[in-house]
Amino acid sequence: MKLSQLYLPTLKERPAEAEVVSHQLMLRSGLIRKLAAGIYTYLPLGTRVLAKLKQIIRTEMNAAGAQEIIMPFVQPRELWEESGRWQHYGRELLRIKDRHDHEFCLGPTHEEVITDLIRGEIRSYRQLPINLYQIQSKFRDEIRPRFGLMRGREFIMKDAYSFDVDEDSSAVSYRAMYRAYGRIFARCGLRFRAVEADTGSIGGNFSHEFMVLAETGEDTVVNCSHCRYAANLEKAEMALASGETDTGDENLSAGLEEVLTPGQKTVEEVVVFLQIQPRNLVKTIIFSTDKGPVAALVRGDHEVSPAKLRTYLGANTLDLAEEQLVIEATGAPTGFAGAVGLPIPIYADHSVKGMSNVVMGANKKDYHFKHVNIARDVKIAGFADIRMAEEGAPCPKPDCAGQLIFSRGIEVGHVFRLGTKYSAAMKAAFLDAEGKERPAVMGCYGIGVGRTMAASVEQNHDADGIIWPMPLTPFQVLVLPVSVKPGEVWTAANELYHRLVEAGFEVLLDDRDDRPGVKFKDADLIGIPIRITIGPKALQEQSVEMRDRRTKETRLIKLSQVVDEIKERIRKEMDQIEAALTAIDQSANDL
Ligand code: ATP
Ligand code: MG
Repeated sequence: MKLSQLYLPTLKERPAEAEVVSHQLMLRSGLIRKLAAGIYTYLPLGTRVLAKLKQIIRTEMNAAGAQEIIMPFVQPRELWEESGRWQHYGRELLRIKDRHDHEFCLGPTHEEVITDLIRGEIRSYRQLPINLYQIQSKFRDEIRPRFGLMRGREFIMKDAYSFDVDEDSSAVSYRAMYRAYGRIFARCGLRFRAVEADTGSIGGNFSHEFMVLAETGEDTVVNCSHCRYAANLEKAEMALASGETDTGDENLSAGLEEVLTPGQKTVEEVVVFLQIQPRNLVKTIIFSTDKGPVAALVRGDHEVSPAKLRTYLGANTLDLAEEQLVIEATGAPTGFAGAVGLPIPIYADHSVKGMSNVVMGANKKDYHFKHVNIARDVKIAGFADIRMAEEGAPCPKPDCAGQLIFSRGIEVGHVFRLGTKYSAAMKAAFLDAEGKERPAVMGCYGIGVGRTMAASVEQNHDADGIIWPMPLTPFQVLVLPVSVKPGEVWTAANELYHRLVEAGFEVLLDDRDDRPGVKFKDADLIGIPIRITIGPKALQEQSVEMRDRRTKETRLIKLSQVVDEIKERIRKEMDQIEAALTAIDQSANDL
């Protein structure tokens, strides 16, 4: 394609509204434009990247036995009433009314629609398993849409849903998707990690997130320095380090003592005021859940993981209690909650077990207790691993001597086993071999397509612009003549362009009548992996300059060698990807 004919509005300056580099670069390089908060148009260059990404997704999904469909974007309220999510989904669900006052929502996800589709058609176990997917726009009225395509309101997702006869068969479907996802992100040329994840409000019992590794990622990825253990931060398990349970004073005989701590609410304030260490204090945190209020206890220098607590409790929702609930539950304002005599269920982290002589809120404004002995003074409903993982902590896997390492990631994909949550609620049942009616066992699998594109930029860029991995790049080669005035340079560029197109490469010819400096800047900005520059001097020797966008390595090569050199450069990158695929298949087998 000729650049003069490409609708490519680039920007020289960093757009003020763009906080993260992918957003800045995607605007600057003319990939996307904003229509409204969290709502974007893909321009031609962006659409080309999108098409490649979709193609990789389709190839791997089809190879894994899934079939593509397209479901409606507008979904009737009645279906969401059946699943119970009309009430529970919250304000991300954009609700609309038609002219007859019938209520609908814009699909944020499609469990309801697919379950409705399947229940109408599936009768017998012989028709299962089935896995259907689509690539389509979703709408979630995100509270804070930001970072361009990374967290939009309208965004493109690939979502797939599997239906199986039982849990074992569902596990097979899940593994096939886990493997397909690994292959998809590897084939995009991205560095990523699959991590164990919390199942969120969607429920279910088994889940992994696929994280593209990038320093600017919003998520924390936890992995072991030694074994393959990897999880997201909210889910990562903590091994009990030896000696952790007896941090309190050995003097167990000291009785509870109420002390005045006026206005001292936070751990920091209380430890300074009482001249103790954070580890000698136990925090009491009140949560509201769909099963009623609960209290969670962790050491002063630890944090609670709400996701781990929610999973342990089997609750659907769990949120930090509002001030009013704290007052009702403890009789005191936030900052003075304590577990002694607290009338709601109390759950404590393993590390709190056996602690004595600790400081804790007294459920009375401006007072704390000293000398609390957990075993003696607190009625604990259960001890569990409910604290947030910490970097450097021992790996939770038995017999592993590794330590937890933290890195940053962007969640681009998520696979879940849903069990029968939707099929039972919405009566998507089939007759098994014995003629007994059973709900189908489901899985759901999402990829943020636009987010993956942004994540690629987040992971692959430098000060000058984007660096596209070969599989996603909008064009593989940029041919850049330093002059387009009639003459040798222009003729050679034109000839080379046609030769490369014929050889099957995706080529962009910068035929604009601009200064070379401007063209070089744009070339770096839009990030085509291979640049061939044609200038008068080298041309005397029948040579052109080949530049690698990633390494910035520049070489003179003979015109006659250009096709082979480009082939070689592409082959090198694709070989690395092939090697990664082998490792992925192996790890899916180990799942
Ligand atoms: P997040 O925690 O980032 O909000 P999620 O858990 O709500 O994500 P899922 O419901 O699992 O996301 O959706 C599947 C995939 O869709 C995610 O892995 C992510 O890549 C993508 N995605 C989710 N929300 C958005 C959004 N607002 N904008 C762009 N992509 C999104
Ligand atoms: Mg979300």
